[in-house]
Amino acid sequence: MKTTKQLAAFFLSVVLICMTVPQKAHADWFDPLTIHFLDVGQADCILVKAPNGQTMLIDGGDEHDAEEIITYLKREGVTQLDIVVATHPHHDHIGSLDDVIREFPVSVLYMPNLPYDTKYYHDLFRVINEKQIPVDRAKAGVNFKMGFSVKVEMLAPKGSYYKHINDYSAVIKIKHGKKTFLLMADAGAEEEKEILSRGGYKADVIKLGHHGANTGTTMEFLKKVKAKTAVISVGRNNPYQFPSKEVLYRLDNRNMTVYRTDQLGAIIATSNGKKIMFRTNVLH
Ligand SMILES: [Zn+2]
Repeated sequence: MKTTKQLAAFFLSVVLICMTVPQKAHADWFDPLTIHFLDVGQADCILVKAPNGQTMLIDGGDEHDAEEIITYLKREGVTQLDIVVATHPHHDHIGSLDDVIREFPVSVLYMPNLPYDTKYYHDLFRVINEKQIPVDRAKAGVNFKMGFSVKVEMLAPKGSYYKHINDYSAVIKIKHGKKTFLLMADAGAEEEKEILSRGGYKADVIKLGHHGANTGTTMEFLKKVKAKTAVISVGRNNPYQFPSKEVLYRLDNRNMTVYRTDQLGAIIATSNGKKIMFRTNVLH
C-alpha cells in the first residue's frame, strides 16, 4: 500500500515537474526554424517561422498576390507578423504588402530610406499610417533575435545613395545554430561588394539577388559566401529570361544545389541548427 502511495507521489511529482518546465524555452532550442520561399511568380515573398513562434515576413509579392499570400500564411497558422521587411520599394516586392499587413497585426516594419513615388508605395504607407505600425530603417548593422536561437542581422544597405534602386535592398542574414541563410532581395554587384567589405557573410543557403539576374551573384561573391544551396524566386516564362544563363553556369560551376520557385512552387527550408532539409509545396 505504502509502495503504491510512493509510486503515485513519484508520478505526480514527475507530472508537476513536466508542467513547470517552461515550454517556450524548451521549444525554442529543439523546434525547427522554417523559411518558406513562397511561389509568387516573378516576385519575392519569404516567411520565416522561428522556433519560439515568432514570424517575419520579407516582402509581399506583386500587385495581385495578396489573396494567395494571406491564404498561405493562414494555412501556416500565422496570426501575427512580428517583423515585416519591405526590402526595397519595387512593385514585385511591395505590390501586395499593403493588403497582407492589413490582414495581420504587425509589430514593426523595416524598409530602406528611399521614398518612392508610386501607387504601391503610397498604398503601403496608407496602411502603415492607418494601423500606426512602427517603421524602422533597414540598413547594415540592424540586428535582433527571434527567441533564444535565431539571430537576424542586416548586412546591407550600408550607404545612403546607390545608382540602382535594387542596391538599396535590405540583405538579411539569419543564423540558427550552426546554419546560416543569406537573403539577398534584389541586391546587385555594387551591394555585394559592400557586403564583402563588411564581412560576416558566409552562409549555407543563399536566396539569390534579383531573381537570378546577371546584375549580381558574381563569381567572386559566390566564392566568398561559400553557400552550397541556392534558392531562386522567379516566375515561369518571365519576360526577363531570369534566371540568367551566366548565373546558372556559376552555380553549376560551384556544384551548388538549386531550388527554383518557377519549377517547384513554394520551397520550404527547415533547420534544426545542424542540418537544413528542403521540401517543396506546389501551389498551382
Ligand atoms: Zn525583384
